[in-house]
Amino acid sequence: MEKLAMLWEARDEKKVRCGLCSHRCTIKEGRRGICGVRENRDGTLYTLNYGLTSSVAPDPIEKKPLFHFYPGTTVFSLGTVGCNFRCMHCQNYNISQRPLEEAPFLHDYPPETAVELAKDHGCAGIAWTYNEPTIWFEYTYDSAVLAKKEGLYTVYVTNGYMTEEALDTIAPHLDAMNVDVKGFTDEFYKEIASAKLAPVLETVERAVEKGIFVELTYLVIPTRNDGDEEIRRFASWVAQLDPEIPVHFSRFHPDYQMMDLPPTPVKTLERARELALESLSYVYTGNVPGDPGENTYCPDCGAELVRRWGFVVEEINLSEDCTCPGCGREISMVTAQRPGRPARRG
Ligand code: SF4
Ligand SMILES: [Zn+2]
Repeated sequence: MEKLAMLWEARDEKKVRCGLCSHRCTIKEGRRGICGVRENRDGTLYTLNYGLTSSVAPDPIEKKPLFHFYPGTTVFSLGTVGCNFRCMHCQNYNISQRPLEEAPFLHDYPPETAVELAKDHGCAGIAWTYNEPTIWFEYTYDSAVLAKKEGLYTVYVTNGYMTEEALDTIAPHLDAMNVDVKGFTDEFYKEIASAKLAPVLETVERAVEKGIFVELTYLVIPTRNDGDEEIRRFASWVAQLDPEIPVHFSRFHPDYQMMDLPPTPVKTLERARELALESLSYVYTGNVPGDPGENTYCPDCGAELVRRWGFVVEEINLSEDCTCPGCGREISMVTAQRPGRPARRG
């Protein structure tokens, strides 16, 4: 469904400037922005995909991945088509790079329907995921406001390219984000995603400032972003922000336009995890079911606190106040018993 867009300005000659993501597209009359789902009609910007959903599923929250946010709960997850990035290795390119007109499978899920279905499926929250949530911002905003009223938590799984004004607008209604940091050099972002690194880091910094619960995913691609120095610089940046932020080093699988590289060796992921643990408290390996790096351990005494297999939580061994039963250390975890983001240590 089409709707008047939020966060844009009129320019001369019926051009508009979109303020939703850091591309800040200037769009001529009759044209669309880079994401392909925002169109200038006679000098007014419209969102074209409001509520138009490509994928819907009740997922484990661990699949987002969020390991420290209501562990073991189910989250109602929705995605649309389009993206503001052009990642060569996108695993969801079938929806992210698909023009709206070539997506006959889209279904209309108004915010009321999505929230109702989330409750019917026994979900504790709602997430916008599978493709970039910022590009159907108006829909996620309306849905988030409603979801919060209905007692659901709200989650963005995002590339972090939203502008400051977009984050300011959604933040009061957004509980958690998993942000993809795709690498730690500007060259990598330019080459792989046709984007820049700095706006992503700024979004993470702002989200932490605003009290949104943040976890980070770093997809480790052999020979491209897996160097010790790059991993160390990434971890140091997270540590100065808050060493309690959970970080997921995920395994790459060849896909889309990056078929020439092998899957990430598990050893490489374990190496990245080891390096990051020099400065961070909670570091995970991702897409390696059964790896010990999927579990949560106490950063002080090493006790196993949450045991996982893939996205399944097998056992939680935490005190009700989210402290380690072994040594009493506070564990940065949001649960029904302890809602709200734990205090920063950064
Ligand atoms: S959301 Fe980003 S890519 Fe899409 S029109 Fe706005 S600035 Fe351009
Ligand atoms: Zn402990």
